[in-house]
Amino acid sequence: MTILRNVRLAPTRHDDPAADVEIENGRFTRFTPTVPQTGPTQADSTQTDPARVESKAAGSAAAGSVGSQPDVIDGAGRVLLPSLGDVHAHLDSNRMGQTFRPHTADGSLHGLIMNDRANWRDGERSVRDQAAFATAVIIASGGTRIRSHAQIDADCGLERFTGVRDALAAHADVLDSQIVAFPQAGIVRESEVRDLLDAALSEGADLVGGLDPLQYDRDPVAHLDVVFGLAEKHGKGIDIHLHERGTAGVFSFEEIAARTKAHGMEGRVTISHAFALSSNPDAEVERMADLIAEAGISLTTVAPQNGVLPQRVLADREVTLGLGEDGQRDYWSPYGDGDLLRRTWQLAFTNGFRRDADIADCLDIASRGGARVMAGARPDGTSLKQDARFGLGVGAPADFVLLEADTVTSAIMDCPAGRDVFKAGRLVASHGELIGGMR
Ligand SMILES: [Zn+2]
Repeated sequence: MTILRNVRLAPTRHDDPAADVEIENGRFTRFTPTVPQTGPTQADSTQTDPARVESKAAGSAAAGSVGSQPDVIDGAGRVLLPSLGDVHAHLDSNRMGQTFRPHTADGSLHGLIMNDRANWRDGERSVRDQAAFATAVIIASGGTRIRSHAQIDADCGLERFTGVRDALAAHADVLDSQIVAFPQAGIVRESEVRDLLDAALSEGADLVGGLDPLQYDRDPVAHLDVVFGLAEKHGKGIDIHLHERGTAGVFSFEEIAARTKAHGMEGRVTISHAFALSSNPDAEVERMADLIAEAGISLTTVAPQNGVLPQRVLADREVTLGLGEDGQRDYWSPYGDGDLLRRTWQLAFTNGFRRDADIADCLDIASRGGARVMAGARPDGTSLKQDARFGLGVGAPADFVLLEADTVTSAIMDCPAGRDVFKAGRLVASHGELIGGMR
């Protein structure tokens, strides 16, 4: 057992009382108010030095508790937040840590796709090593889960997919991860893509992806036949990029929702970006939200300026929403730095939020929302609010971040350095570095 003493659990005020947290077998087992210590005890006499706290926690990762004596960590009054997740990543195209290169794409979606195709082989690291670098940055920022798309097309075949797969496999003990076999350049446009997606799903991809069936492939029936057909064949989920706006987006929402129900895939389909929800009249947005709620479709956003999702409309219908970063400093854009707390700030900022409760909702989307996107809705119909599988509750995985802050809002505004990240109760990253170094 591990006892984490004197932490403030997602506080709303700077003087919210501290708590002690008990962790056993990687899960939270008890939360109790912190009782001020009158003097050092045998169990915690070495815990006042932060350096010792870290080494003790790191040591517990390898050794665990000895006998019935718990490991005791002094949280020193720091804020404890549930860990975050990047549930819309592209680990195969980022250039974080590499020499900065000027942006060279034109503004169209096709131009961006072809700019990436023309340049991705010029990276200074292999796909595998660059994906591992980005994974480490994301974990150290507070992320313990990643859903990454891996591009599959006629140019790269499975090369980018295997790079992402191998990088995530190297982090399997410190990260929950999923890979989407992603047809970035379309399915209908390049005839070999269907078989490549099929192969990736046989070789470890967790979900099959899709991209703008109407406006990019210009053949939505053929596109979605492949996506849903492969998902059914392999028994895997779906995560479709939908940049389509206005009525085109409505059409794709309707098609995807109808097929999700027809294939019995409720809870296993995600629509990423979902710009149709930010570019239609209110009544139409509410109708689309009803459709995806009925079909158990989850959403991810990367918090763009021009594509803010109607969070209140979605929350009212218990639609699961997760947060991601998309690319980071890649051939698509210079934005994105792997810091999920900063992306949570961006989610709040692009929504124009000021109230603490609204900003706390953004943290919930970045943490519990993403976890639920990856796990899928519960088959028993448990609502998002009642879903105790994730977050700061007894029985949930002890995946959390410790940092210096006054409140949740101040943590999101300040994005403080010096974070300690725990996965299943074990310290996995501290002060920006993975414990044990790069993998
Ligand atoms: Zn994307």
